[in-house]
Amino acid sequence: MFLHDKFGRAITDLRISITDRCNYKCVYCRTGNEGALYGDLPFEDYLRMTRVLVGMGIKKVRLTGGEPLLRKGVVEFVRELSKLRPQELKPTSLSNANGSTEAESFQSAEPLDIALTTNGHMLAEMAQPLKDAGLTRVTVSMDAVDPDRFARITRVPNGYDHVLAGIRAARRAGLWPLKVNCVLMRGFNEDQIIPFGMFAREEGVTVRFIEFMPLEEGRTWAPSTVVTLDEILARMAEYRPLVEIPHARSETARRYRFEDGVGEIGIIAPVSHPFCGHCSRIRITSDGKIRTCLFSVWDHDLHAEMRRGASDEELAEFIQGVVQKKEERHHIGEPDFVPASRTMVHIGG
Ligand code: SAM
Repeated sequence: MFLHDKFGRAITDLRISITDRCNYKCVYCRTGNEGALYGDLPFEDYLRMTRVLVGMGIKKVRLTGGEPLLRKGVVEFVRELSKLRPQELKPTSLSNANGSTEAESFQSAEPLDIALTTNGHMLAEMAQPLKDAGLTRVTVSMDAVDPDRFARITRVPNGYDHVLAGIRAARRAGLWPLKVNCVLMRGFNEDQIIPFGMFAREEGVTVRFIEFMPLEEGRTWAPSTVVTLDEILARMAEYRPLVEIPHARSETARRYRFEDGVGEIGIIAPVSHPFCGHCSRIRITSDGKIRTCLFSVWDHDLHAEMRRGASDEELAEFIQGVVQKKEERHHIGEPDFVPASRTMVHIGG
């Protein structure tokens, strides 16, 4: 029973938020307030949900939050996840009555692709243990390459050095390729585009610029606050020419390398160039709800099914039903746009 939604999109990527607590208060995400709103679940519950979903064709799992490294036991959780094996499909020699070839699923020999999105503040000490436990990749959020600007955006003093140390420790640990995500918000960091181009070349990381989306707690989003893909490309071209390189269909970022072959950047442009048609993701929130889109106006309580004693088969049936409700696309910037029922920190980006 592999997961497809009613628009024919295969669902192969799962993002799990393991806490909605965060030690940063980034201006594009949060207000200055403290604390988690929804709380979190024991790791064994996330593990069971993931096991069922991997049996339904999930191949990539990304841990997120809140800040996932705040959660004690995350290394052990990664170790447990790394024991799961994704399912593959193999055509059988038999044809069915319609003449089409049937396929049977089998367990891959390859481990699950386990990624992590983190603000990097605690990564320096945790990169190697996470790698040893089976983490495949890491994405670090970093919105300025200048310590003062970094503090203004994150509302945390002295974070910059921690994050830089985290990025370097991840590289040493072999968590590779390493991506650095930068949300651009007009008035805060659009002048960081070229410095980030230099940073990508010097540190050997892929810097990915993300267009600011209306998912922030403060409801400050307006079309004018978005620094668009076209603007980012134009600004970067003032520094050095870029060449577009192919990206996978379900990949969120458009990819570019500098013409001399040194350094790669990506641009995630959900506002100016939506990619919903190729979306392969579902999310589980820290309190165990399934969200079929970042902009969903409702979520689906998988954990309630577990609490009422549902078997794995019943959970799989519930998930199948939920995936059929996956939204076709978001409506950012359109007159009928309705804000998501949760903000990013409580969804898990
Ligand atoms: N704490 C972790 C981190 O900082 O990466 C994981 C959670 S954070 C919510 C996940 C990603 O969402 C980060 O890359 C962050 O920059 C991005 N993000 C948060 N709010 C956003 C917004 N309003 N628009 C676009 N991206 C946003």
